[in-house]
Amino acid sequence: MTNYQLVLDYIVEAVRPQFGKGKVADYIPALAGVPPRKFGIAVCTMDGQIFKAGDADEGFSVQSISKLFVLQLVMQHFGNMIWTRVGKEPSGDRFNSMLRLEQEQGIPRNPFINPGALVILDLLQSLKGDAYQRIRNYLRFLSMNETLDSNPTVADSEFNHAHVNRALAHLMKGYGNIHGDVEALMEIYCFQCAMEMSCVELAIAGLPLAGGGYSRPHETAVISKSQAKRINSVMLTCGMYDSVGSFAYRVGLPAKSGVGGGILAVAPEKLTVCTWGPELDAYGNSYVGTAALEMFTEMTHTSIS
Ligand code: GLN
Repeated sequence: MTNYQLVLDYIVEAVRPQFGKGKVADYIPALAGVPPRKFGIAVCTMDGQIFKAGDADEGFSVQSISKLFVLQLVMQHFGNMIWTRVGKEPSGDRFNSMLRLEQEQGIPRNPFINPGALVILDLLQSLKGDAYQRIRNYLRFLSMNETLDSNPTVADSEFNHAHVNRALAHLMKGYGNIHGDVEALMEIYCFQCAMEMSCVELAIAGLPLAGGGYSRPHETAVISKSQAKRINSVMLTCGMYDSVGSFAYRVGLPAKSGVGGGILAVAPEKLTVCTWGPELDAYGNSYVGTAALEMFTEMTHTSIS
């Protein structure tokens, strides 16, 4: 039996030399002030046991990790038709790149780059009812924290600087792949990205992906087995943007990152592990978090291969 607590306590110390090598995201001004040398790590096993170390209980901006959960909501409602509006191939470009979007007539490569997430959100917004509430309620349910919320300062800050995301949305609207109003879409996208969760909450929220849709703490099948398989697969090939290959080589697990510095990784039928370290590498993924996950999977022999 692996002593996860011992491993996490070791990692919190062992990653220290990695501090200062990455850079906190500053293109969303409200994120620039986050203390750079925070580090947290949490593991949630299939039976719902939680192990944690460092700043694992501190809430941070989930940013693109939210794409993982909004995708679940949309798959639950729309099923396989979503793949007519978004692809499932790695893009090889930056998460907010516009390059391929014009070449490929407004169909984003996958749901985890920004244009893909905007299309997914456009689908959610087309449903009757309040999309904000739907996202917040789903995250509250998954994290088992009824007080979870979006940080309005971060959401406003991104909304006021979201020129590239607006451009992506307008380009797709021009090609007919965004149906709703672009400004309304941007508002809810910034709200979704500014949700604040801790490593522990994200590890719990990811559990259905590890359990073939079922999660013991939630006492239900949150998504279907097939949906869990599909989402994990797209995470493995597209979840870490244009460094997905080297991340897979180093860590060996499907994972989703956010520019808030979080990474949520899934070991199917075993556990979830979430790290938070705000300093990012050149691809927008947590520098320290990636190093910590590599240590974790090497030490515990947890990987899909
Ligand atoms: N809100 C961020 C953006 O749209 C999310 C990007 C990310 O976390 N990779 O730029």
